[in-house]
Amino acid sequence: MKKLLLIATGGTIASETGEEGLKPGLGAQALLAHVPRLESLYSVDAVQPLSLDSTNMRPENWVCIAECIREHYDAYDGFVISHGTDTMAYTAAALSYLVMHSPKPIILTGAQRSIVTEDTDARTNLYDAFCYASDAASHGVSIVFDGHVITGTRARKVRTKSRNAFESVDYPPVALVRDGRVLRYIREDRPNEPTFYHEMDPRVAVVKLTPGLPWQAVNALRGCVDALVVESFGVGGLPSSDGGALLKEIRGWREAGKVVALTTQVPYEGSDLALYEVGRRALTEGGVIEAYTMTPETAVVKLMWILARERNVEAVRRRFYEPVAHDLLTLKTPEIG
Ligand code: ASP
Repeated sequence: MKKLLLIATGGTIASETGEEGLKPGLGAQALLAHVPRLESLYSVDAVQPLSLDSTNMRPENWVCIAECIREHYDAYDGFVISHGTDTMAYTAAALSYLVMHSPKPIILTGAQRSIVTEDTDARTNLYDAFCYASDAASHGVSIVFDGHVITGTRARKVRTKSRNAFESVDYPPVALVRDGRVLRYIREDRPNEPTFYHEMDPRVAVVKLTPGLPWQAVNALRGCVDALVVESFGVGGLPSSDGGALLKEIRGWREAGKVVALTTQVPYEGSDLALYEVGRRALTEGGVIEAYTMTPETAVVKLMWILARERNVEAVRRRFYEPVAHDLLTLKTPEIG
């Protein structure tokens, strides 16, 4: 019988109605009690390092979850993490870096409705997550939600209420889970040994470009963070219609030893800065790095992970372009501005 560990962290799946609205309240054992069929299939233990609405999840909490996995790694065949859906994509990306090359499965799941409600998706999602975690071919970090298995670096929450809350962005789902069976689309070699990392630098911010955004808004962030992710338009570029002030501001970040990465606010197909003049100038004059098909969530988390260990801007660029767990899918040689 497979030995699996439930790591409960809160979220809607574990929520109860309080005086001021829904908040996590149910413990790990209570979650398990709602899915009694797990007991006959697996040997399941549970721990509860956190009890958060995932809106309150912070980079140090990702490290705490990774530490919990490390502490119990040898004793279990796989891990299921119950988590709020709002920031699950960030946590999945973070764990993909903090627990790299895991030969054991690390599965995040949650729900759009609390496990105590009648029409909940929680019981199915939890059951599916355990099924996938127990499958002989599973390894690494994934989200299991609404029957879909999504690679940890490729997930995005795309619906606020429906059961199919997550999508796998620019990458196929790894598998489906139906009626307790895994239908696997992608099979990969199992890595030998995990590498654990223990730090994240939370000093990364995101700016979403809007037409006419004043350069001063970007400048205001410069003193607060070590890296900026700019969500640009379309395949990507920086406006120069303000006399080049924003471009100059972005260049200033580079000169101050900070990193600026450009991604796109379009959900699919990533950036291609070399296509338009506004993109090329971002590379050559702005000195930005390009996220290509990396999701904005993953780009943010990857920078936090790199910056915790590396301060040299060129070294950060190099590491950013080293693919990890399918975070970067590009056939091009990344351009260095
Ligand atoms: N606000 C909740 C959370 O992310 C939403 C959910 O779990 O679905 O914790």
